[in-house]
Amino acid sequence: MIRANPAVTSSLFSAARSSVRPSVRSYATAPSSGGSSNLPLWLGLGGIAGLGAYWGLGGLNGSPPKVSGKDVKEALSPTSVSGALSKEKFIDFKLKEVIPYNHDSSTFVFDIPDNAPSGLTLASAVVTKGSGDGPKDKDGKPVIRPYTPVTSPETKGHIDFLIKKYPGGAMTEHIHSLKPGDSLAIKGPIPKFPYKANEFEELGMIAGGTGITPMWQVIQAIANDKSDKTKVTLVYTNKSEADILLREKFDDLQKNDSRFKIVYGLDQLPKGFNGFTGYVTPEIISEHMPAPGKADKIKLFICGPPPQVEAISGGKGPKGSQGELKGLLADAGYQQDQIYKF
Ligand SMILES: Cc1cc2nc3c(=O)[nH]c(=O)nc-3n(C[C@H](O)[C@H](O)[C@H](O)COP(=O)(O)OP(=O)(O)OC[C@H]3O[C@@H](n4cnc5c(N)ncnc54)[C@H](O)[C@@H]3O)c2cc1C
Repeated sequence: MIRANPAVTSSLFSAARSSVRPSVRSYATAPSSGGSSNLPLWLGLGGIAGLGAYWGLGGLNGSPPKVSGKDVKEALSPTSVSGALSKEKFIDFKLKEVIPYNHDSSTFVFDIPDNAPSGLTLASAVVTKGSGDGPKDKDGKPVIRPYTPVTSPETKGHIDFLIKKYPGGAMTEHIHSLKPGDSLAIKGPIPKFPYKANEFEELGMIAGGTGITPMWQVIQAIANDKSDKTKVTLVYTNKSEADILLREKFDDLQKNDSRFKIVYGLDQLPKGFNGFTGYVTPEIISEHMPAPGKADKIKLFICGPPPQVEAISGGKGPKGSQGELKGLLADAGYQQDQIYKF
């Protein structure tokens, strides 16, 4: 995952937080190290996931379900109404194309036969595991990791993922080794925030690294729906300019669609780069996020590495729950129900 870019409330906090800056970036819900256990990751998933889903999918001992060997064609049988994905079982999807994105991330395009939809909902994630001889954890159990598709629910004929590779990362080494024609087992969707057009006047989004993918799902939906009047401000932090994902999409929206404002943050700003340097601060929040006084007319979405999420909003709670609102957003006067942590 991405290197942490945690927010700070004060120099005291800054000092404290820099000491927890991890050597690898990861979601609040991803395994922090080792990468071998699937449990922490499942504990962090919301919607149908969380501990209940971990049990539901893998039994009390956490054993992942057996891949039935049934493929996408079967999932698209006449009894399947919503699309190629199944919430009940892993289905093998064939890799159609790999499109390199930057120095460590690529877009993986998986085929859906007969130009069918995936069955994704807005917003949702999926879980993946190796098809057949995929990566295993130290106990010999298949490694399972969640990903957020970058294709919209309306996309037909393929489902795409933008995935960053970690040296030694169990799943990302595997996915990045796949060649067109190889398969990946995918299960979902795992519902996240159920976004509806015009439910809010303004959305504020704070994302770090690959935490951008759920934001992109929502942004894409708004961009494609001209009747949606919601204004969106995205604060997106990365280590360097080269790490910014989906930048061409955001720059295009910023330029051509007045509903969107994009603010980049980098560890160090290259000459002439328009953005802020360092951590998300109270000033960044008050300058760019919709004001808390706007009550239920606004919503803030947060997704990124655990120290960043912790510092900005407090981490997620047990069993995929939202957890108590803390950190910069609590200090700034936001209420719990104004915030959603992906
Ligand atoms: C809801 C959700 C959606 C997500 N969506 C996306 C997405 O769209 N795109 C995306 O790229 N990611 C996404 N992620 C993150 C993804 O699920 C994985 O966590 C990530 O890809 C890393 O998985 P991995 O198995 O390769 O790494 P892991 O094996 O879990 O390891 C992570 C890191 O730890 C290091 N490591 C492994 N073992 C050790 C050890 N013993 N000691 C020290 N370090 C070690 C690895 O080298 C690696 O750098 C999402 C996560 C969540 C929770």
